[in-house]
Amino acid sequence: MPTAPMTGDQRFVKNLNRMALLRLLRDESGLSRADLANRSGLTKSTVSLIAKELIDEGWLAEDGALVTGALGRRPTPLRIDGRHLVLIGSELDTDIIRVVAVSIRGEVLEMNQAALKSKDPDAACHQLVQMVTAQSAKVTAAGSRLLGIGVGLPGAVDSTTGVLQFAPNIGWRGVEVGKRLGAELTAAGLGAVPVYFQNEADLAAVGEAEFGARPVEDPLVYVSCGVGVGSGIILNDSLFTGATGSAGEIGHTTLFIDGRPCSCGRLGCAEAYMGLKAVAEKAGCLDADGHIDRAALKALAGKRAASARDAFGAAGDVLGVLLQNVWTTFNPQVIVLGGESVGLGGEQFLQAAIERLEQFAKQAGLPGPDVRVAKYAELATAVGGAAFALHSLLRPYSHAPTARASVSPVPSVPVLA
Ligand SMILES: [Zn+2]
Repeated sequence: MPTAPMTGDQRFVKNLNRMALLRLLRDESGLSRADLANRSGLTKSTVSLIAKELIDEGWLAEDGALVTGALGRRPTPLRIDGRHLVLIGSELDTDIIRVVAVSIRGEVLEMNQAALKSKDPDAACHQLVQMVTAQSAKVTAAGSRLLGIGVGLPGAVDSTTGVLQFAPNIGWRGVEVGKRLGAELTAAGLGAVPVYFQNEADLAAVGEAEFGARPVEDPLVYVSCGVGVGSGIILNDSLFTGATGSAGEIGHTTLFIDGRPCSCGRLGCAEAYMGLKAVAEKAGCLDADGHIDRAALKALAGKRAASARDAFGAAGDVLGVLLQNVWTTFNPQVIVLGGESVGLGGEQFLQAAIERLEQFAKQAGLPGPDVRVAKYAELATAVGGAAFALHSLLRPYSHAPTARASVSPVPSVPVLA
């Protein structure tokens, strides 16, 4: 369905201007009101009015006035404050739930994680809501205000409806996660807080862009390597998710026609060769029911046993092929590597991938792309959930919170005052 042209009332325009000033200050801390007026094109009086509001609400803080030697009022540097504005990010993974509270500057304030008790969608959603609600209560008790919640899920997500379309590694297809979580969060008193649902790698990509280097790296491709293998793509300051939310599912790109069976039902997918299950199987750490013995795998990797080195090396080699394909498809400014396999396989896994990628670059006579490891390690998706909530607030024209069926309507522009 084509997107309707964007319209906006006065409230929307005001919010757009507020967020534009915040983004300018995030990119360059210490700008004065006059600087902000120059950069944004807004009048000085509008900037002053908005700056006062943002200071009163806790978004901005003022530093001491600068001595410039010029006559008249001295410019006062402004900076992002955010000590009392908090975002909650969470990840519902195939066997673990992680919840974090993050400041608007990207500092992880609180972290909580627990084993996923049940893969039943109702039970899993209930456990996630309990953990998010507990984190929210802590944030509020500390005198902070909760701005938004982001939830990462292990499969392709339609972010407008919150439907998890397909997550082969947890066995969910067409699960209305948004409806379930939305109703429970509303019942828990969080009905007015905007909630966003996205795929895990997509959120991790947003976290790396939103809380990463300035100026922002764009395009940025985050490659998530674990039991599932996927990617999140930041393109032109936006998360690119494709027509139905499944863009970037690079674990299911075909490496071999009629190759090994994959969890998605196809044959020869990359994930079947370099996903953590394939690694565990090669290292002798996969039981007959397909469960990974993580403790054994970690122990083998820790003592650099040949079986683990061979398994992670072979998987890293395949990852190098995927990175080559990501590079040629997106010409990214940076590729970020994260996920469980990066933590477990460490140097062996990464080195094999980089060597393979360098070999491709050499063959083409081109300098290879920049590759780095995820800033937030195993918290990348959870922090990315918080980052996505912030990303959406800062760009009121981009992502509306996921609609919550059968509850009172959530405003498309969150009320910030
Ligand atoms: Zn597949």
